[in-house]
Amino acid sequence: MRPSIAWTLRCARRVRRIALAALVIAVGGCGGRARTPAKEPPAAERDTTPPRVVPESLPPEKIEDVNAPQEPGLVDNSQVVRIALAAGVPRVAVSATGEWKLYDSNGESTLLHGDGGEQWIVEPERGGLRASRLDGSPTGVRPPPFILRSIVRGSFVIVNGKRYRGEIAIIPAPGGVTVINRLYMEDYLRGVVPLEIGQHRTEDERAAVEAQAVAARSYAYTHLVSERDRSYDMLATVLDQVYGGADAEVPLADRAVLGTTRVVLTYNGRIINAPYHSTCGGTTSAASEVWREGDEPYLVAVSDRIPGSADRYYCDPSPTFRWTRSYDQSSLRSALDKYLRNYAAVSSSGVGTVRSIEVESRTPSGRVHTLGIVTSRGHFSLRQNDIRFVLRSAGGEILNSTYFSVDSRQDPDGVLSSVVIRGNGNGHGVGMCQWGAIGRARAGADYRSILRTYYPGTTVAAVDR
Ligand SMILES: [Zn+2]
Repeated sequence: MRPSIAWTLRCARRVRRIALAALVIAVGGCGGRARTPAKEPPAAERDTTPPRVVPESLPPEKIEDVNAPQEPGLVDNSQVVRIALAAGVPRVAVSATGEWKLYDSNGESTLLHGDGGEQWIVEPERGGLRASRLDGSPTGVRPPPFILRSIVRGSFVIVNGKRYRGEIAIIPAPGGVTVINRLYMEDYLRGVVPLEIGQHRTEDERAAVEAQAVAARSYAYTHLVSERDRSYDMLATVLDQVYGGADAEVPLADRAVLGTTRVVLTYNGRIINAPYHSTCGGTTSAASEVWREGDEPYLVAVSDRIPGSADRYYCDPSPTFRWTRSYDQSSLRSALDKYLRNYAAVSSSGVGTVRSIEVESRTPSGRVHTLGIVTSRGHFSLRQNDIRFVLRSAGGEILNSTYFSVDSRQDPDGVLSSVVIRGNGNGHGVGMCQWGAIGRARAGADYRSILRTYYPGTTVAAVDR
């Protein structure tokens, strides 16, 4: 690296460190000590500009104890993410595994100081918040947000019985309170990767876990939101990425996150929102095949066929590589009555008797583009991914994929008596096939080649914070 660039980078880092230090102080100090309002610097705007992509320099491969929790407080120049653990719930139960503090007024004053283990309930009251011990009387109503921090190294905050790294902010919200876990990006990923690719992956599948870490990191960096727009960046559910906090962590995923620290996927120098799914079923899908927008040059159909084989696919070990779902007239009608109105004009008395259901057009990768449904009350067309949200099971489960064929039978009166859907794969089909990544890892691919396969034309790079 040329000296001038190195200087620029160092300088940029210093500026950013100052900005983040201001942020941390603004949300209530670090290291668990309450600060006096008089010494507060002006609230700094949270840094949500995408971090700069820098020439790749991977961190050392091994650190002895990757499970050691970070020092309390969020203090260095690492990226912080804000994850909503619950939004609009009536109350939340908080605690910690060791000594902890609960601050009010966005961290300006200490409300409680606990030893660990004792549980307190925080709930909204007259525009503010109050806390009460299970067996005691409540505190007075204090200004929000409340900030919960563990104040000793090696201990975790606890929210509704689950352990988390970083700190917790509790703010009043319609319906009660919203609970937000603020923590380092890399710690967040340790609670995401195992839940997204499976907690029981083995060492020979490690490259898939590393590819998952990079895809999840790239997704997260492209979903940072300005504090003015929203109090959190992502939800802890499938609507973003499933996040389970410290309780979800496993050693293999920890090593995969650590081994890819700050590594992201880029296209034309910008971090990409790297979508992924469980099982493509044979070939992945271009974004435009399942969604009506979001087409990108790197989100194109990619075959998962194993070279040299006639009918073997990298994702064929997946339990949903092939599947069937069956309906009779009443279960089909009940699903259509419930869900079709979200996508088509259905009369208030329902769809009537179902006469036929057939694939009207397919996308280039073979997925269903348009599904035609004829009933005694008319013809309805369903498109692309919407199909999955209409053809639900009796329990409300969406259809695994749009990569299917329909086999239907009619009784002598022309009424549909049964429908069998034979499908391939699970998920939207765009971007990385997770089971395909596992298959490729088992076959010896490294995480870079897995990512280059599923996101063609992208580059593996590192961010500077
Ligand atoms: Zn696949």
